[in-house]
Amino acid sequence: MEPCAVLRDTFGHPAFRGGQEAAVRAVLAGRDAVVLLPTGAGKSMCYQVPAIMLARQGRGTTIVISPLIALMNDQVGALRGRGIAAGALHSHSSDDERAATTAALLRGELALLYVSPERAVLDGFQRLLGRTRIAMLAIDEAHCVSQWGHDFRPEYLRLGEVRRALEVPTIALTATATPRVLAEIQDVLGMRDPEVVCGDFRRPNLTFDVQHRGRDDARLAATIEALDRAGLRARAGAGRAIVYCSTRKKTETVAGELASAGFAAGHYHAGSTAVARERAQRGFALGKLRILVATSAFGMGVDLPDVRVIVHFQAPGSLEAYYQEAGRAGRDGDPSQCLLLFGPSDLVTQRKLADHARHDHEAALAAIEAYARGGRCRQQILCDHFTGVAGQFLCGLCDVCRDPDAVRDARHEAAVDPIVTPLSAEDRQLLLDALAAHRRPVGKGNLAKALRGSRAKAITVQGLVHLPQHGRLAALDEASIVAAIDQLIRERRVVRRGNKYPTVALAGAASRGDTARAPRVPRAPRGPRTQTSVTLALDTYRKRVARQLRWKSYMVFQRSTIAAIETQRPITLEALEKIPGLGPAKIARFGNDILAVVRKHTRDDRA
Ligand code: ADP
Ligand code: ZN
Repeated sequence: MEPCAVLRDTFGHPAFRGGQEAAVRAVLAGRDAVVLLPTGAGKSMCYQVPAIMLARQGRGTTIVISPLIALMNDQVGALRGRGIAAGALHSHSSDDERAATTAALLRGELALLYVSPERAVLDGFQRLLGRTRIAMLAIDEAHCVSQWGHDFRPEYLRLGEVRRALEVPTIALTATATPRVLAEIQDVLGMRDPEVVCGDFRRPNLTFDVQHRGRDDARLAATIEALDRAGLRARAGAGRAIVYCSTRKKTETVAGELASAGFAAGHYHAGSTAVARERAQRGFALGKLRILVATSAFGMGVDLPDVRVIVHFQAPGSLEAYYQEAGRAGRDGDPSQCLLLFGPSDLVTQRKLADHARHDHEAALAAIEAYARGGRCRQQILCDHFTGVAGQFLCGLCDVCRDPDAVRDARHEAAVDPIVTPLSAEDRQLLLDALAAHRRPVGKGNLAKALRGSRAKAITVQGLVHLPQHGRLAALDEASIVAAIDQLIRERRVVRRGNKYPTVALAGAASRGDTARAPRVPRAPRGPRTQTSVTLALDTYRKRVARQLRWKSYMVFQRSTIAAIETQRPITLEALEKIPGLGPAKIARFGNDILAVVRKHTRDDRA
């Protein structure tokens, strides 16, 4: 009997899909196999077809290790429906079921036995296997062996023992194909020269877009736009959408907002009661809810063909999670959209949620950030990530393929603050004082440089280093000072002279108005502004960061921000949110450092 006959007669599939046949032939030839196929590609055929053939040849039962009880039950039910003897042993089986399954196994009747990893590693179970004939071992979700992965399960580390005890061809299956995970699977399971089947991770019917949105109202607007574009506002009709959020609370608020915007939306998370979850899932499957707002708890084993839109309201913690969740769109092959809304605060949220079983959550976050900020075809980034090789293809559909310039601009906008900082009244007065003290016209740029403390030649020869205001605006950047001078010109408090090398000087005589406050005679220099250690330390810090990032220091944060930190002395990230000039992006990047500075110097001050 040929594998394709089993595929056709038992499962009704006319032909193998990419990769399936190679895996089937390898295990039938007695070899090990590692199958790296994206979700939905058909991994189960890779072990079910050979299992059926081996059972028919009297070679024994195939043991399938699977971590999800619901999936096990689905598979067993589907196989039985096709006339295949299959059973499952897990913590939810009743005593009767367990006894019946064990008896069928020992009589050699089962083609496939599904077991949870917890059970598989029990001595009792291994003794049971010793009393019957086993043909093959299949390990589903094999990336769970990886301590670096997002689904690490400690029992998986002990599956190598099971394999060694059984000494049968072993097939490991997963949708995560990074070289590291592949190596760990082979290593932990002790596989010998396995056939490695690596599938195609491209999804030609999916459009992957990223939008940089910091605030929830902007995210909501983007979500609604995506849902409307897919025609999902109507109460009934074809297609549905999943909106993924990182936290339970967020699923509820977003679902509420969508419902009040007129969508048939519900929410789903692991904190709801079983009844509520069941109701949401059923409503969504039946099309009563067209939009399900969910945490990552939703979706495993759910296979709805016509999910037209997947919005990630917040970025998930890894590209694996993103691809798995976004990949639930368009299973029917029709065009569908995957939209990631990305704000740097998402990284903060993910750090809070960080699953410490995952050792490399920072690297995982960096990967998703690179995806969001990247200027390369989104599908290319995803495929490269999963296969570990740099691909060449362009999907032609994603936002980067469609309009790389627009994506680049949006990225820059999201990353950089407005260029100039308005000066405080006090600093503006200081500018006027400097012009009054200098008494001669001076170039805007040179004046700005002098106020920032420059001792460059041009500044020295003009005597600007001797101004009492020299260096007093060191915490501001040149562009902001120049912009303030321009503003003073517009207000006619300062005049501009000359064309080729324009200079500025104080307007009119010191007889009235503003100029009265800018006496011609230099005032005695005010003592150095009281700068406490927090201000100094933060200024040093932002200069250092600016150098590293090749930013201007005001892009790190502005002097007014330092001043606010100085007075408020925040000690938590939440408190930082109240500081003007510190948005989620800045807090994500610099928040902990700022807090460390405040802590250190607050202690010093008190000491
Ligand atoms: P995975 O475990 O890789 O996510 P499944 O094994 O659940 O995928 O298969 C996904 C879907 O693809 C199922 O509906 C299955 O019936 C279908 N399928 C698998 N192999 C084939 C094939 N060779 N031809 C057509 N459909 C297939
Ligand atoms: Zn593309």
